[in-house]
Amino acid sequence: MNRLAGKAALVTGAGRGIGAAIALAFAREGAAVVLAELDVDTAQRTAARIEAEVGAGARVLAVQTDVTQPASVRHAVSEGERAFGALDILVNNAGINVFCDPLTMTDADWRRCFAVDLDGVWNGCRAVLPGMVERGAGSIVNIASTHAFKIIPGCFPYPVAKHGVIGLTRALGIEYAPRNVRVNAIAPGYIETQLTHDWWNEQPDPATARQATLDLQPMKRIGRPEEVAMTAVFLASDEAPFINASCITVDGGRSALYHD
Ligand code: NDP
Repeated sequence: MNRLAGKAALVTGAGRGIGAAIALAFAREGAAVVLAELDVDTAQRTAARIEAEVGAGARVLAVQTDVTQPASVRHAVSEGERAFGALDILVNNAGINVFCDPLTMTDADWRRCFAVDLDGVWNGCRAVLPGMVERGAGSIVNIASTHAFKIIPGCFPYPVAKHGVIGLTRALGIEYAPRNVRVNAIAPGYIETQLTHDWWNEQPDPATARQATLDLQPMKRIGRPEEVAMTAVFLASDEAPFINASCITVDGGRSALYHD
């Protein structure tokens, strides 16, 4: 229960879904956690839930943050530092699905996708790296996707941005390895969150779409946010000191399967 004791973390998009599960798991393991979230009401509700679950020792702070805006991310980092001291861990989790046909996609859709899914990750890294490099310690975990190495037709340009997240992870991991700053990624497969339900609900027959997704899974179920969170705890902690510039896939084996 104390795998992150004494550490301070910032998690983007921590109001719900995978980000909220990571924030809760970090708090359970003794970290102070900044919930950097677009909708601050959601973040405050999640912060209250974490305090209720973890109890008196919980240290959580909700900060309104738009990861597409560098100044907004810097503000969240400085609020976190003011509350908890230097940040040891950053999880770049905020992300959106932008699924288009390449030739009918608008320029606005392209920019919206990259603004959140790739620029947002860089904005987070850029805000914490100077401090981590100066202190000679830090762990950054970027939430990528199996779309970072597999392509599903009709999902453009989300996989392009997620491929970029892996490139960014590897480049920064190598760049700052001599300063003991580790940068890793997690590639989740289908995880039960609002994002996934929104996608099913956009299909002509949501129940059939859901069943089709489950049928494609080797484990005949999709993942839970907590299962991604456990991997984030491991990568963020001192249990993974020699894991750097890597990506751990959390998809129940789905991306290893050759055929549908
Ligand atoms: P959700 O949509 O459930 O949660 C995403 C959170 O990010 C929301 O709270 C959302 O806030 C927030 N957010 C969106 N845009 C911004 C922004 N500009 N600044 C700050 N916060 C923002 O998604 P998931 O939990 O499912 O996904 C989390 C990450 O995991 C994403 O990067 C996603 O690509 C990735 N992923 C998810 C998979 C899945 O199956 N669920 C599979 C593979 C990867 P708000 O609600 O206010 O918009």
